[in-house]
Amino acid sequence: MSCGHPHETDCSSVLDRVYEYIDHEMAEDDCATVKRHLDECAPCLAEFGLEQAVKALVHRSCGCDTAPEQLRSKVLSKIRQVQQDLAADSAEPVQSS
Ligand SMILES: [Zn+2]
Ligand SMILES: [Zn+2]
Repeated sequence: MSCGHPHETDCSSVLDRVYEYIDHEMAEDDCATVKRHLDECAPCLAEFGLEQAVKALVHRSCGCDTAPEQLRSKVLSKIRQVQQDLAADSAEPVQSS
């Protein structure tokens, strides 16, 4: 996955650690690096929003922070579906490159 812009930090390494970022388990320096990346990288920011939404949903449904893998993927696919519906509704056709 790439937004086409060069970044100081690789998108994949940011996404690998997005859970640590959400959970505030990250060192301050790393946290700043991820935050800067999310500021300039729309695809990663969208992914970050998804993870946060999943976390919030899971928290609400079972009252704990550990997401059962099954529930997590169920919620994720639901969110992706909603995003696709939104994208289909948007007037701007999306060019895949
Ligand atoms: Zn990125
Ligand atoms: Zn990017």
